[in-house]
Amino acid sequence: MRIGKNYNLILQEIYRSYPNTVSKNTGSYIKIQPASAEDHENIKNLLTAKKADHYLIEYPTVIKVVIKGLPSSTDVADIESELKSKGFAVEKISHLKKSPLPLFMVQIKRSENAVNIYELKNLNYLTVEVVPFRRRPGASQCYNCNYFNHTSKTCRMTPRCLKCGENHKTQNCPTTDRLKTLHCINCNADGHMASSCQCPRFPKLKTKTKKEETPISKNPINQRQVRPDVSYANVCSNKIEKQMAPREETPKPSNQSPSEKHQDNAEPNFKFEKFATYINELNNLTSKFPEILRALEDMSKTNNDIEKLNIFLIAVARSCNK
Ligand SMILES: [Zn+2]
Ligand SMILES: [Zn+2]
Ligand SMILES: [Zn+2]
Repeated sequence: MRIGKNYNLILQEIYRSYPNTVSKNTGSYIKIQPASAEDHENIKNLLTAKKADHYLIEYPTVIKVVIKGLPSSTDVADIESELKSKGFAVEKISHLKKSPLPLFMVQIKRSENAVNIYELKNLNYLTVEVVPFRRRPGASQCYNCNYFNHTSKTCRMTPRCLKCGENHKTQNCPTTDRLKTLHCINCNADGHMASSCQCPRFPKLKTKTKKEETPISKNPINQRQVRPDVSYANVCSNKIEKQMAPREETPKPSNQSPSEKHQDNAEPNFKFEKFATYINELNNLTSKFPEILRALEDMSKTNNDIEKLNIFLIAVARSCNK
């Protein structure tokens, strides 16, 4: 629900009838989380009756997770029968083919034991990791109200015109002339429209950091990447082998350049902590500047160090000019 004049009165009313509802302030909105599907339906009707500006988030009836660690040739039917035998109410399984690593997305019916899926460490006699499914980052803007992070399908807000800011849909705008000055209805500045990524209100794309990508506490393999007290040398000599998988399972970051590989062979005391920091920096840059990622790929095709540097420099210069 968008925070308006009487938002608090509406919250009071929701609490009186549905006391188990959780409401959180997220800035311009209050995120209302009903305790049951029935409450969800009733609160939806209440907000409509009160003419509160809001958009709907479907009541989650399923849990979506990603299973990592299975070969890409794994039959989806095998995963399904294995999960069912472990007591999970599987609704759908699909192979995420766009991903460079073999990943399977699993939807299971929400129930008390459904969250146990995160504890799953073994499937089809293989070690696996289960993480929450996340959509690919991307900003969505609503055609109806021109606010962000929802679509017009779920929008129950007063329409706002992109051109003139009045309460009608942009397509119904009586102003048919080309606009002389661009004006933004989200930040009130001139020079751009609310649909432009130049707008300071336009959502920034979240770039994944290593920590965000995989929940650390769930898997000891991941702990290794971020534990500051563990040196790379220690990892290799298996001094802390108790909670570690064998060395072969060390996840190799895919965008590591050949020169870096060379470096960790040359320095046996090279700290893993530092190594992780470098990879993190590189990961951050390559996700923001795809030119750099392409450069890293091209660099691996040549053995000439000067040429490598040149490729890298050109990509850096191009990225800076953007
Ligand atoms: Zn909307
Ligand atoms: Zn208009
Ligand atoms: Zn703006």
